[in-house]
Amino acid sequence: MPYNAGFMCGFGLTGSAWTCDGVPLSAIAAAVGTPAYVYSAATIRDRLGAFSAGFASYPHAIHYALKANSNLAVVRVVRAAGGLVDANSGGEIDVALRAGYAPGDIVLTGVGKTPAEIDRAVALGVKAINAESSGELDRIAAVARARQTIARVALRVNPDVAADSHPHISTGLSTHKFGVPIGAARAIARQAGARGELAFVGLHVHVASQMLGLEPLRQAAAAVVGLARELRDDHVTVEHVDLGGGLGIAYDGEPVPSADQYAAALIEVVRPSGLTLVVEPGRAIVGAAGALLTSVVDVKPQSGGKWFVVLDAGMSELMRPALYGAYHRIVLVEPRATDPVSCDVVGPICESSDVFGVDRRLPLPAVGAVVAVLDAGAYGSAMASNYNRHALPVEVMVDAGAWRVVRRRQTIDDQLVCEE
Ligand SMILES: *Cc1c(COP(=O)(O)O)cnc(C)c1O
Repeated sequence: MPYNAGFMCGFGLTGSAWTCDGVPLSAIAAAVGTPAYVYSAATIRDRLGAFSAGFASYPHAIHYALKANSNLAVVRVVRAAGGLVDANSGGEIDVALRAGYAPGDIVLTGVGKTPAEIDRAVALGVKAINAESSGELDRIAAVARARQTIARVALRVNPDVAADSHPHISTGLSTHKFGVPIGAARAIARQAGARGELAFVGLHVHVASQMLGLEPLRQAAAAVVGLARELRDDHVTVEHVDLGGGLGIAYDGEPVPSADQYAAALIEVVRPSGLTLVVEPGRAIVGAAGALLTSVVDVKPQSGGKWFVVLDAGMSELMRPALYGAYHRIVLVEPRATDPVSCDVVGPICESSDVFGVDRRLPLPAVGAVVAVLDAGAYGSAMASNYNRHALPVEVMVDAGAWRVVRRRQTIDDQLVCEE
């Protein structure tokens, strides 16, 4: 399989059935039911290892972006493999702490940090709070003063770089809500650097997600390295530049830069500054490490010889297709030998956008057949909801040839426990 080129783990066709690290997906579905997320621990380790190897020649830190997938078991695999974390909320900080991370392992990002989130991050003493505005720097400083401590902060800069990704996951244009404009950053950073309650430790940038080219990342890196140089002239010295996440994965076999190429491109820009290089990959670590198993609940003809294949999972379990028009490969975990037909693969939710794939060529599956939606490890479970009162799916980790449930399926009592 070209998708798995470069690492000998993950999801693939082994003989006549799809497997995860050698375990048949049909066996997992039979045991735990569907919908179910299945993760490959080996793939997570492999991807993290590829990033570590890529950056090995230069001082660096890899902070896995928890928002991609913060299942505790996933986070524990990341931690055991040496990855640090990027949290986007107080909830993600709590998950990181429960997974065993120390505050110094955590950077906190987020365009709208609440007073409670700022207070918690300052009290814990996280490695860096990536501040989004001068107002937020004021609020962080006020908390630090009240707590008689010094808060470590970085400034998120909006480099005004076009990322060539989907508009909903591009963040680095001046019209986007993230960070402070590059033109205003020097003055804001200089002020922050002069405050006794703040240790100004870094500059932060994140231009987009699912990027398939390195040029926007190079441009963003050059912008913050240039800013760091200007700040040095102003006698404000930072420890690191945090270049965010954003490296894409091959959802449809498209060419994607390797972790080595990605690291080499960033190191080339940052090396002359001598600054430590921080990155926050999310999707590139866990995207290919997960699949959503779902069962066919109905098959019905539509006009023009096409078929609807209706699944027991939809946008409530995996929102990316409905939200971004995202493409995911869809396969029968036990492929049939019949000729493929054209299928619209749809979910059961009462929304016309609840479609996983249009015009997919599949052997017409039988009702009850299990289908795997591949490359669903990132922004899959993390974005799942109770819409239509669907239960959050069961999640399974495959590790070293064995598998275990790492989140049980939600019950209706779980859903109603917070309601009157
Ligand atoms: C979403 C996000 C990431 C992770 O992005 P990926 O595309 O999953 O690598 C990293 N940093 C920040 C600030 C983010 O918002």
